[in-house]
Amino acid sequence: MEHIVIIGNGIAGVTAARHIRKNSDKRITIVSGETDYFFSRTALMYVYMGHMKFEHTQPYENWFWEKNRIELKKAWVEKVAGKEKQLHFSNGETMDFDKLIIATGSVPNKFGWPGQDLDGVQGLYHKQDLDNLEKNAPNKEVCKRAVIVGGGLIGIEMAEMLHSRHIPVTFLVREDSFWNGVLPAGESELVNEEILANGIDLRLSTNLEEIIDDGNGRCKAVKIKETGEIIECDVVGLTAGVTPNINFLKDSDIELGKGVKVNRLLETSIKDIYAIGDCAEQREAIGRRRPIEAVWYTGRMMGEALAQTICSNPMEYNPGHWFNSAKFMDVEYQTYGWVSGRNKPDFEEHFHWRHETELICVTIAYHKDTDLFLGINTFGIRMRHEIFDRWLTEGRKVDEVMTYLKDANFDPEFYKLHENAIITHYNKQRGKNIQLVKKSWKRIFA
Ligand SMILES: Cc1cc2nc3c(=O)[nH]c(=O)nc-3n(C[C@H](O)[C@H](O)[C@H](O)COP(=O)(O)OP(=O)(O)OC[C@H]3O[C@@H](n4cnc5c(N)ncnc54)[C@H](O)[C@@H]3O)c2cc1C
Repeated sequence: MEHIVIIGNGIAGVTAARHIRKNSDKRITIVSGETDYFFSRTALMYVYMGHMKFEHTQPYENWFWEKNRIELKKAWVEKVAGKEKQLHFSNGETMDFDKLIIATGSVPNKFGWPGQDLDGVQGLYHKQDLDNLEKNAPNKEVCKRAVIVGGGLIGIEMAEMLHSRHIPVTFLVREDSFWNGVLPAGESELVNEEILANGIDLRLSTNLEEIIDDGNGRCKAVKIKETGEIIECDVVGLTAGVTPNINFLKDSDIELGKGVKVNRLLETSIKDIYAIGDCAEQREAIGRRRPIEAVWYTGRMMGEALAQTICSNPMEYNPGHWFNSAKFMDVEYQTYGWVSGRNKPDFEEHFHWRHETELICVTIAYHKDTDLFLGINTFGIRMRHEIFDRWLTEGRKVDEVMTYLKDANFDPEFYKLHENAIITHYNKQRGKNIQLVKKSWKRIFA
């Protein structure tokens, strides 16, 4: 029986395993050094914040694997001998495979800062990081201050986590406004405000110079590059992005870039070896997407597509229109299509509306010559994914999007609606006279 071995029990590897099982009788083994069972990485923060227990982050009961004949092995792979079709584990054991799926995810970036390996310095990625945070920062008496380095989605999550236990947080952000490489200026500013309103000591345009040792191998402070200021702290969170977890593949003959290079069928340069999820790098970027995308749903999509290919139904990975969602402290964010940040291309024009008093805003991107709708970001307003997916596929113009904006709203009924204010601002700004059309369930479910 053909033996499919998957390295990595995250969303990508587990989705591939489940769908291979649905479609075949092949022998399947999932290997991971991190945990016995699959868990939802995106929910780690809620465990620390006391909203759930770690067991609640496991989508499948422990009996699921045996029932579905998916063998689990807890071990670290040290080397892949691609031509011999064999894995070497750190404990000296080996395992043969007929087909191999590499789904090893990411690791937090470290940029060679002095002191980055001291005790008390950590990322937020693996289960072990959650355990370390519990140890390093159980409360504000043990951790009198934490410094977080790197202003992205994981950095703000870590700030929120520590803040939930009343631990003072200093947040070092290299850019002059939070995540402004991704978010347009108005939105980035709104997030700055939300961070400050939560009492986080946000330092913009600020770089870490070094982490200072207490003499016993533990961090005691950080030094700021621009000013030389010393900030005392008990924990340093390194959240300056992630990078594909592929170090162990260096001697494997598999072609590597920043990640494992794959084509649209998710095949690597070696026959019968595939890569999916955060660790995979598309040889050619798909549309305006990045060649490496460290997001949950694309890992799942890759797992689904690859399972088809492995079960003799070749299927290219086709992620469709970009979308994503996140939460910045208490403000929900959604994005559909493309709305650029600081490096906006020339052809992209933005319409931006912000609520007068609350942290609610919308940015709509459109083509400056053709008025083609390119994408939308919302803060504090929930939108319907299927509607924007459809409108992007249909190539709607921005005026049409504005006209039918009520169809796209997904806020619960008792929520205050903002379409009237948005359209008034749009008409004023663009010299138009667009009339909002009443929401229609018939259109929504068409
Ligand atoms: C705190 C946090 C919050 C996030 N929030 C969001 C969010 O809100 N939305 C979103 O879209 N994305 C979010 N992400 C990103 C998302 O979680 C990842 O994109 C996704 O989990 C990647 O899945 P994966 O299957 O590719 O890899 P992973 O989930 O990283 O799984 C890979 C597994 O392989 C194991 N492994 C690696 N190397 C080896 C080896 N050599 N031997 C054995 N095992 C190995 C790893 O230990 C790991 O268990 C978040 C990430 C983090 C860390």
